[in-house]
Amino acid sequence: MYRTVDNGQLRISNVGLEVTMCGWVHKSRDLGGMTFIDLRDRYGITQLVFNVDINKDLYNLARTVGREYVIQITGQVIARSAINNQMLTGEIEVKVNKLIILNVSKTPPFTITDNTDGGDDLRMKYRYLDLRREKIKSNMVLRSDVSFYTRDYLRSSGFLDIETPMLIKSTPEGARDFIVPSRLNQGEFYALPQSPQTFKQLLMVAGYDKYYQIVKCFRDEDLRADRQPEFTQIDCEMSFVGVEEILNTFEGLIKHIFLHIKKIEIETIPRMTYSHAISNYGSDKPDLRFNMKIKHLNECCQGFGFSVFDNAELIVGLVVTGGCELSRKKIDSLIDWVKTPQIGASGMVYCKFNKGGQYKSSVDKFFNMEQLNNWKIKSGAQEEDMLLILSGEKSKILNAIGSLRIEIANRLNLINNDMFKPVWITDFPLFDVDIETNSLHAMHHPFTAPVQEDMELLESNPKLVRARAYDLAINGVEIGGGSIRIHNSELQNKVFNLLGMSTKEAHEKFGFLMDAFEYGAPPHGGIAFGLDRLCAVLSGSDSIRDFIPFPKNNAGRDVMLNAPSIIDDSQLIELNLKKT
Ligand code: ASP
Repeated sequence: MYRTVDNGQLRISNVGLEVTMCGWVHKSRDLGGMTFIDLRDRYGITQLVFNVDINKDLYNLARTVGREYVIQITGQVIARSAINNQMLTGEIEVKVNKLIILNVSKTPPFTITDNTDGGDDLRMKYRYLDLRREKIKSNMVLRSDVSFYTRDYLRSSGFLDIETPMLIKSTPEGARDFIVPSRLNQGEFYALPQSPQTFKQLLMVAGYDKYYQIVKCFRDEDLRADRQPEFTQIDCEMSFVGVEEILNTFEGLIKHIFLHIKKIEIETIPRMTYSHAISNYGSDKPDLRFNMKIKHLNECCQGFGFSVFDNAELIVGLVVTGGCELSRKKIDSLIDWVKTPQIGASGMVYCKFNKGGQYKSSVDKFFNMEQLNNWKIKSGAQEEDMLLILSGEKSKILNAIGSLRIEIANRLNLINNDMFKPVWITDFPLFDVDIETNSLHAMHHPFTAPVQEDMELLESNPKLVRARAYDLAINGVEIGGGSIRIHNSELQNKVFNLLGMSTKEAHEKFGFLMDAFEYGAPPHGGIAFGLDRLCAVLSGSDSIRDFIPFPKNNAGRDVMLNAPSIIDDSQLIELNLKKT
């Protein structure tokens, strides 16, 4: 037998037990006559002790083993004289009487510790070593648990786990497809699924009224810190349901996961319409761990001769509680920040409501004390607070102030990191308007059903049509999204037309779905959650990479495999991608 116990198992009650253990040499230190080895495996670390006076050969052998050697030992559990309260096994150690080196190891290129000295690229190149680190290992355990409790909840709610194909035709989720050339059908290509969207809808037509799958999705997008070209979704679909049933069902899933993973009872998840979220938080995924709502100030700012305000479509502000204390330097740095291209504001006005009515704004020339007092009343600020104001075009400025809200909270430490604030966002617009071309895009995806009362607007003013779509955001991160779907081919065709797709083109691309709608498609809807992001949020981390066993870097590369890579000419020729 290789081992009788693991390295996280032994306690003081096991003293006297004869054990055989395996693992990696985490650390070893020689105190002259005594050698201690920390033996590590997935379950923990156990201290081994070798004493020169008891067995000289064994002691000498123990001194030859290096970091990350794989060893097997047999020995006896004894009580430690110096107890280590930081370790679960800290009250015992194992007095070794047999040591076998199962494999040697080169010196690892970085330390296998939480605060490793390895940089990002090095860690990714040797990901199998990085995965040995406790921090990453516990992320993998968490991920496995989240998957388990997801399956647990969905199975007991009657959902079937059904696989859908990976080599398919394009699914429009708003990104580029990854393309796979077909050897057997020369000149033709498969696409990797951006999501199983159309398949799960076909499963509803087939009568499998509760479907789920924990599934890889592929999107060829420009990468951002929290994006990966392949990622995992908890993908779900239900028949004979409306928005209400979907939100309730999946609120249950979120509660189940939080209860089992974090031991936290999530209260009823609040709901907020998209327009409320944008107007109050400047974001469709508001972080509700702190308040600081956006104040709309056009009324008390315009008509006083300050042309920047007078010409602005929208004037909005944020009240920073106790903000009078902020130094000039800190305010200037915020002003510089709002002017950076990714925020895009032209400037920022501020007003300090100092104690005793000594108000001081950056636009004193244009606004007298009485008008500043109006700002105070309108924004709900108190004495010693500061008001920050942005102005400009509505579509841009709401975004900018939403970002400023988060930036201030981060800079002033207003966020309680132990808090979880989920929120459902509902009533998204059905379409997004491209301002330059005035064309319509699906805000969620083209299969999303319009709100019934807005159906007439599809003809007269499609931009105003609301969708039966919803998102779940937690702590300012979009965790999931979905919609009630169109299940009628005529309406589906009309939406495709509004999206600029002719009926012919719609049939070429999605004829299979519209045909299926002709054979008794039930009303249906669903949702998908990002598993990687959900895990990151549960751990209070903003990097999804640490929760993916083998992630890609920011350039979409797997630096361990060195992929993507060039393929042989013979392969290219076989695929008809190169002439002989
Ligand atoms: N397929 C959608 C997505 O990937 C989710 C859904 O509508 O169920 O975002």
